[in-house]
Amino acid sequence: MQKKKVIIIGAGIAGLASAIRLQNLGFEVEVYEANSYPGGKLTEIHKNGYRFDCGPSLFTMPQFVEELFEVSGKKISEYFEYIKKDIVCNYFYEDGTRFTAFADQEKFAETASNIFEVEASQISRYFKKSKQKYDLTSSLFLEKSLHKLSTYFSKDTVKAITRINHLDVNTTLHAVNKKQFKDKRLIQFFDRFATYNGSSPYLTPGIMSMIPHLEQYYGTFFPKGGMYSITKGLYQLALDIGVTFCFGNKVDKILIENGKAIGVLSRSITIEADIVISNMDVVPTYRKLLIDQKAPEKTMKQPRSSSALIFYWGIKHSFPELDLHNIFFSEDYRKEFEYIFSKKQVIHDPTIYVNITSKNESNDAPDHCENWFVMINVPGNEGQDWDKIIEISKKNILKKLSRILKKDIEPLIEVEEILDPRKIESNTQSYQGSLYGSSSNNKYAAFLRHPNFSQKIRDLYFCGGSVHPGGGIPLCLLSGKIVSELIQNEYSL
Ligand SMILES: Cc1cc2nc3c(=O)[nH]c(=O)nc-3n(C[C@H](O)[C@H](O)[C@H](O)COP(=O)(O)OP(=O)(O)OC[C@H]3O[C@@H](n4cnc5c(N)ncnc54)[C@H](O)[C@@H]3O)c2cc1C
Repeated sequence: MQKKKVIIIGAGIAGLASAIRLQNLGFEVEVYEANSYPGGKLTEIHKNGYRFDCGPSLFTMPQFVEELFEVSGKKISEYFEYIKKDIVCNYFYEDGTRFTAFADQEKFAETASNIFEVEASQISRYFKKSKQKYDLTSSLFLEKSLHKLSTYFSKDTVKAITRINHLDVNTTLHAVNKKQFKDKRLIQFFDRFATYNGSSPYLTPGIMSMIPHLEQYYGTFFPKGGMYSITKGLYQLALDIGVTFCFGNKVDKILIENGKAIGVLSRSITIEADIVISNMDVVPTYRKLLIDQKAPEKTMKQPRSSSALIFYWGIKHSFPELDLHNIFFSEDYRKEFEYIFSKKQVIHDPTIYVNITSKNESNDAPDHCENWFVMINVPGNEGQDWDKIIEISKKNILKKLSRILKKDIEPLIEVEEILDPRKIESNTQSYQGSLYGSSSNNKYAAFLRHPNFSQKIRDLYFCGGSVHPGGGIPLCLLSGKIVSELIQNEYSL
């Protein structure tokens, strides 16, 4: 029997995951990618002896990457290696407080109780609750389609619904943290987990306090060779099992006939397929590739998650007090970063992230030098004067880092590259350059995210950070899993 053909639009991490799973299920998979390289946001740059991971820096839930090698019958160690980190992150506060977040929960609680006004047992209770929230909801919100009736008949779903009062859905993450802790610095610490899905702690529901569980229970990891090795490993795996890639092939249209996706148009050529999956952000998928179809306007109008402004700096100095991941908090970020936000925009916490992979990978920077990835969260691109924002931000960031690290940073910068929301948008087609699709700034957000399939057009599916279950590497990998399961069920494989 002839194999059914699947076209995937985009070789982002979710496109790669979907391709690997469907190829293993016996489909013939072709991936059309606008760029000349795979990975989308998960890419890298090299400049004058420095290597920088461009996008994600935090790797959690590696089991979802492992699964892709398992289902392909390949040994992951031949493609990709990673280590578990003992120190999750170093935190620097304006008042001089320094806090090292250890991966080990007991050590974390003990260190926290030595620094903040808190008992170790309070921290342990917080993590326990965080775990309960995750255990109750992960199979419903992350691992299944929220838009299929069968999901609601499962035992897990019924259990989650009966325990809804324990999930803090009717309050905000900040309110949950304020209730639990007295120390402002600790509240700020736990509030920052809202940025993991580009939301605001003052708006995102309290259920998001499950996020620290992912870091503290499952751990954080670092791939050998940097984050880009995730892309490299999955791309090589896809090639080895027979997936075809067409780079430099932007898709301009999804072809629909009698309510069914029948292929795509790329470089004025029609390519037929039985199934089409879009890994392109769902907003431009409708606005550019499906212009003759009615778009789900409510979904299109969901507020977007934050974007980012990143400086990649080659620093000719070594800072022993810094680790792979470092966070510099602002005492009054409204004052410090007010110029970035218009009145109507939600202010996320523009914490400064300084990630330095050369702490783990000596090839990432010349001797005695470091490759700094310096990021602040900013709103999405709505035509702001980004050049001005970049100029002011650079000054502010340098002033702050120099003050806290007690060393003038600017003269140490020998290499610089900058990524801003405009470029994130043009490099990956992510609407407004958002990092994680739509934000989770209200309790209905999970239900308002676009499903992994079209409710109107047969054989059209969606994966990636802008659709269910959301953004970030683990969730994007799960969207690939959900899509492949939906197709498997549809074709009764
Ligand atoms: C600066 C930054 C920091 C981040 N930090 C983290 C982190 O620490 N941890 C974490 O887990 N996540 C993080 N993320 C989020 C994470 O990178 C994304 O959620 C994830 O990589 C998105 O993957 P995706 O599959 O949705 O596709 P994307 O990466 O958005 O890629 C989509 C691909 O589709 C292609 N494409 C689009 N339209 C077309 C078309 N018409 N034709 C052909 N090809 C097309 C694009 O060229 C692109 O390659 C970060 C993101 C950024 C940018």
